[in-house]
Amino acid sequence: MLVSFPHMGNCWPAFKCLCESCGAEVFLPQTNNTKQLEIGLKHSPEWVCFPFKVTLSNFFEALEHGVDAIAMATDCGPCRFGFYYAVQQKILEDLGFEFEMLHLPQGDLLTFEWADFLKNMAKKCGNTLHNSDIVKIAQKYLCKAQLIQECEKLEGLTRCYEVNKGDTTRTLKKMIPLIDQANKMSELRNVRRRISREFAAIETRPHNGNALRVGLTGEIQVTLDPFVNHDIKRKLGELGCEVHMDLSLYDWMKHKFHLNFHRKYIEYLSKTHKDIGGIQMDIGGEAFWVLGEYINWAQKGFNGFVHIYPFTCMPEITAKSIITKWYGDGRFDLPPAFFGFDEHAGEAGLVTRLEAYVELLKQKKERKQHGNGSK
Ligand code: SF4
Repeated sequence: MLVSFPHMGNCWPAFKCLCESCGAEVFLPQTNNTKQLEIGLKHSPEWVCFPFKVTLSNFFEALEHGVDAIAMATDCGPCRFGFYYAVQQKILEDLGFEFEMLHLPQGDLLTFEWADFLKNMAKKCGNTLHNSDIVKIAQKYLCKAQLIQECEKLEGLTRCYEVNKGDTTRTLKKMIPLIDQANKMSELRNVRRRISREFAAIETRPHNGNALRVGLTGEIQVTLDPFVNHDIKRKLGELGCEVHMDLSLYDWMKHKFHLNFHRKYIEYLSKTHKDIGGIQMDIGGEAFWVLGEYINWAQKGFNGFVHIYPFTCMPEITAKSIITKWYGDGRFDLPPAFFGFDEHAGEAGLVTRLEAYVELLKQKKERKQHGNGSK
């Protein structure tokens, strides 16, 4: 059985490993790009959120290459993501494609519905998975997701110090396929060591405290896919920002397994700011945790906070309004910048806004260093 899945930034080695471990052959959609997006835009409702359009484009490409099934996560959350797979399936079937939509419930991974999903996929491929196989698959998948996270963290922390522009990007691009190729736990351990070595080998300027510490967060698909967010992380790094990002596929998985203590902490921060208008529960997207991250990074003395989201994303826009008010009221001394992305988002406007924002952060930092930290 030929299977495909959405392309989301660097996450593909983990998704691929999941399908291949069930015995499926994988069709990997190309890296998201403007040309490919056209078909998703043409067949999506205009008002729908941007990640829907991007993933629909991936599915088109896969179906045109003859895939038998599409694996797509779904959630029971309060926003539109829970309906993506069903609406996408209907659109694609109406267009005449014959395929199976294998939806993976990820609302709460401790219900172990994902284990049935894997067994079902394996069965369709003529294989039988025992519980011990499921444990091994999950272990390998999580290990790959963790290594991807490690690369993405090191990328954000290294780029602003690199001596030769592009070294960090080149190292990242070299490491992701290695994660894909490693299929035994011993090989993955070697890749982990290789990642540390390769990033440490990048020639860097001394870390003299001049770089701006900026937190980057937002809706998961936009935050993890460099095409969708116009590679904002790279741009911030090249403008001299040390980019801190806790959001990753691994972070999300740990959260869904109820093992993410960082998320528990930022949930606690959101909830303890109830009196000034924090969100008390998951309202969809990453809004609940975005607020917690903002408070967390403000308390750690970060210089900037960049929040990115799909243009019409209701949960993230709610978080944006709350953070804007907090900063305006002087509750936290962390200047936020907000960027909404969809098919109309332009590169030039983004660069101009980022340059202006980083310049303001630099001036604010200098004023603070000279004893005048006012806005
Ligand atoms: S989080 Fe936002 S972009 Fe994602 S499905 Fe929900 S509303 Fe749409």
